[in-house]
Amino acid sequence: MPQNLLDFDLDGLTAWFTELGEKPFRARQVFHWMHQAGVADFAQMTDIAKSLREKLQQHAVVAPSAINFAHTSTDGTRKWLFDVGVANGIETVFIPEEDRGTLCVSSQVGCALECTFCSTGRQGFNRNLTAAEIIGQLWVANHSLRGEVNRTNGDSSDRPVTNVVMMGMGEPLANFENVVTALGIMLDDHAYGLSRRRVTVSTSGLVPAMDRLAERCPVALAVSLHAPTDALRDQIVPINKKYPLVELMAACRRYLVHAPRDFITFEYVMLAGVNDQPEHARQLAELVRDVPCKFNLIPFNPFPDSGYDKPHAEPMRVFRQILQDAGYVVTTRKTRGDDIDAACGQLAGKVADKSGRVIKRMHKEAA
Ligand code: SAH
Ligand code: SF4
Repeated sequence: MPQNLLDFDLDGLTAWFTELGEKPFRARQVFHWMHQAGVADFAQMTDIAKSLREKLQQHAVVAPSAINFAHTSTDGTRKWLFDVGVANGIETVFIPEEDRGTLCVSSQVGCALECTFCSTGRQGFNRNLTAAEIIGQLWVANHSLRGEVNRTNGDSSDRPVTNVVMMGMGEPLANFENVVTALGIMLDDHAYGLSRRRVTVSTSGLVPAMDRLAERCPVALAVSLHAPTDALRDQIVPINKKYPLVELMAACRRYLVHAPRDFITFEYVMLAGVNDQPEHARQLAELVRDVPCKFNLIPFNPFPDSGYDKPHAEPMRVFRQILQDAGYVVTTRKTRGDDIDAACGQLAGKVADKSGRVIKRMHKEAA
């Protein structure tokens, strides 16, 4: 099997080149070609000696996952469905905005954490993505979008993706090593050079892994809170039974010591009649009192047989107002790309579950 060079950060690539009897600066050159120029074909790496190019052709590939489908939403949101050799695969979403282009990246095929309102969680878990499969999503997005007019203000750009959020399928901190390798490549000036503030990991609250992330690769952190009490969070985010709110809040405070931003973003999916009442907002304001934070309210995106409803505008407004009156900054996430099932929690179709439990529902997908 040839080695997929997308699996390596620069240290890994340098070590692999050394084994091949090549100098470290050659690794750096190839790294630039792959990630900065978006070149996958060694023959096009023109400043590399022909003999080395031939050697690379024998032993290595630059191989992002194959694209099964690419869709464009009426609002400009793009979605790619990648073939990762398992059922319907994984998805990546690009959200163009006036001043930035955000890529929503997946980390696992399915998810084992079973949040009740999440279509990925309902599908079961198959496997972790490799580092190549994670960074490959950014590679493909930049490659496909490069040179296109992709900002609503009319700029085109060599680097269409300016921000990455690990908010696609899967729990990034449950695939720690591969995610950290991919994050390292995103941040590396020899590759994508994204600032730590523009790369966000979203977690449902794996406390020990939050501490490890702070040490290894402190990027911006979003925590999926979704409930102000253990009783309610136990029901909708079952990992809460293992890492309850008091531990989660303490982990957030510890993370902030290393974080590139001086706040945690708390994501809060609004589920009509479940967690969207004024009392929940008041409890929430109290819960996070000691954690510098911002709130991002996400209206629930329905999927077939979810059992939940979208919140109404008025309860959302009241909820938001209570948090604002308590002194918090609150944003409400706009739903983008829902005509192509690219909105939060609507990603991807069937997953061949390997966790041994019955797959409760299969999500619709353009197959
Ligand atoms: N596993 C990580 C990251 C992926 S989910 C996490 O849970 O944080 C990214 C965000 O989408 C999370 O905040 C998640 O709770 C939210 N989400 C999941 N399903 C959703 C749905 N149906 N509607 C709206 N948001 C949803
Ligand atoms: Fe997994 Fe996140 Fe979905 Fe929960 S919300 S099931 S952690 S992907």
